[in-house]
Formats: sequence, structure tokens, C-alpha cells
Amino acid sequence: MIIVMKDKAKEKEIKQVVDRVEELGYTPHPSRGAKKMLIGIIGDLNREELIDSLGAYPGIDKLVPIMEPYKLVGRSFKDNTSIIDLGDGVTIGGKEILVMAGPCAVESEEQIIKTAAAVKKSGAKVLRGGAFKPRTSPYSFQGMQEEGLKLLKTASDETGLKVITEVVDPRDVELVGNYTDIFQIGARNMQNFYLLKEVGKSNKAVLLKRGMSATYKEFLMAAEYIMSEGNYNVILCERGIRTFETYTRNTLDLVGIPVLKKLSHLPVVIDPSHGTGQWELVTPAARGAVAMGADGLIVEVHPEPTKALSDGQQSLKFSKFTAMIDDLSQIANAVGREI
Ligand code: PEP
Ligand code: MN
Repeated sequence: MIIVMKDKAKEKEIKQVVDRVEELGYTPHPSRGAKKMLIGIIGDLNREELIDSLGAYPGIDKLVPIMEPYKLVGRSFKDNTSIIDLGDGVTIGGKEILVMAGPCAVESEEQIIKTAAAVKKSGAKVLRGGAFKPRTSPYSFQGMQEEGLKLLKTASDETGLKVITEVVDPRDVELVGNYTDIFQIGARNMQNFYLLKEVGKSNKAVLLKRGMSATYKEFLMAAEYIMSEGNYNVILCERGIRTFETYTRNTLDLVGIPVLKKLSHLPVVIDPSHGTGQWELVTPAARGAVAMGADGLIVEVHPEPTKALSDGQQSLKFSKFTAMIDDLSQIANAVGREI
């Protein structure tokens, strides 16, 4: 249920309602929309008790039931797109399209520092790089783990870039949180509910990747797990789904951008690297993503893709990445955005 406060509701009146909701044993989720202050109440609700208990509060305009299964993630909870603040003026969800770039995996100090400097020069604001790699085979490179996290931090300190890196285990959330600005939840973990709840307890931004066979509803319900723990800084990422087509690594569902934006207020990012699996297709896919309204891109870039320990075939060389961003800035301008 959503408590819609009157336009002129005073802070004191809002607080009274929040306190009363808590007294009744629920967790209030306040959200300031474009026009109104809303207070979401979720969980197993006793509607009649709520209506009786809240009916007389002067600041309340109306009580509206939320019909969708995703409550906090849905548009009814917030009418304007959420702008997530990553600190130092870096945001996602506003006019500027946020570019996150870097190697699939952190491999060495030289590799990550070189890449950080190059992607920064081309306009990226966030450095990506996996330290814990969820590989299909247990015999493939599993990542540099904590040493990789330290290298990401060094690269971030040297360049001022923010960091995004994957966390694969609820027990590592605290450790990874010491080094990253954004937690990445990988496609294979989209429904790892314990992991979702754990990052939900943090206040750091979380980029949630769509599972390779997840419907939009399942995807949004996974985001709801994070938000229901109190972390509203969630970013949705479409990274391609599995279909009957095998020519591309995955089928990048660009229509997901308008669909997710219709259903949810959360920013939407596209991963054209995993979405296609081939470096030649990364720029065309990213062009489409920008034209269709993506709020950000996450792109794999490597100093020498042929020598990469993972995902080299879908990684861009520095020069190709620079050319891509130049190209995308024209499309961004044409659709009223900036890159
Ligand atoms: C990655 O970003 O390198 C990765 C493993 O992504 P995904 O979870 O989308 O496969
Ligand atoms: Mn990868």
C-alpha cells in the first residue's frame, strides 16, 4: 500500500505517519516523487487496521493499494526515474549516460592501471573488473580475488574512477564493499536471494544483471529483494538472454529498456559485451541501446583482447572503445542525452 501525502504536508506530519506505521509493526519506505511525498508499506498487511489507524492523520491525502507484485521497484512507488548518486558528481538515471568500462577480469596491476587510464580518457566514469569470476567451468580462471580488489582500488585512487566489481557470495559482501562503489550481481546469481538480501543491507549501489532465462517480472522481483532490505540504489542491467539463436553468445533484449522503464523507476544499463559475445557487435548494440533510452553502458575493454584470461573475444581494444564513445555521443545528443 502507498500512503500519498498531501502536497502541502509538513515534515512533522510526515514523521507522525512514519512513526505510526512503525508502531503498527511495518517498515515504512518513504520516497519523494516529482510531485508528492509517498510512504510505501509492504509485507503482509492488515489493510483494515491500517485504514482505521491512519484515516485521521491530517497530512494524508489517500491510501492506494499497489497492484504489482514488485512494490518498491514499480512506477507506482515513484513516478520519476531514480537518480543514483555514486559520489563526486557521478550519477546514473539523469541526462548523462554513465559509461562503465574495463576488463572482464582483473589480471595484473599493469593491465588494470593501463585500462583505467585509457577508459577514463575516453569518457568512462566507472572502472569495471571482476576479482571474483563466476565461470561456467571450475577449471577456468576464477579471478584474483582480494588481490584483484586491491588492484581495482589502486587504479581508482590513481584515476579518480569509481569502481564496479562482482560479488558472488553473501560472505564476501563486507570484503568487496571495502573496495567497490557498486556491487555487481551477475546473471548467474540474479536469484541468489541470500546474496540479494545481503547487498540490500548495504547502502552502496547495486547493479543487478538479468538472469539469462529470467522474465522481466522475475528480474524486477529480484530487484525488489534488494530494495525491501532498505537499499534503494539499484540499477537494472540487461546483458542478453538465452534463446534458440546460437550465433551470438546471448540475445540482447533491447526492448527491455522501454519495458523496464515503463514498469520501474530504476535506471537501466545495457551490457553490449555479454549481450553479443563478439567485439564487432559491441558498438552496433551500444548504438541501439543509447537510441532506445539506456541510462548507462557496461563495456569490456582490454589492452590486448587476444591475451585476455576471460572474454577476450567480446572485449574492445582502447582505440575501438574511444571510437565507440565518439560515435555514441552523437546519438546521445540526438535523443536529448549526453555521454
Ligand atoms: C561479467 O560482467 O564479466 C559477467 C560475468 O557478467 P554476467 O553475469 O552478465 O555473465
Ligand atoms: Mn565477462
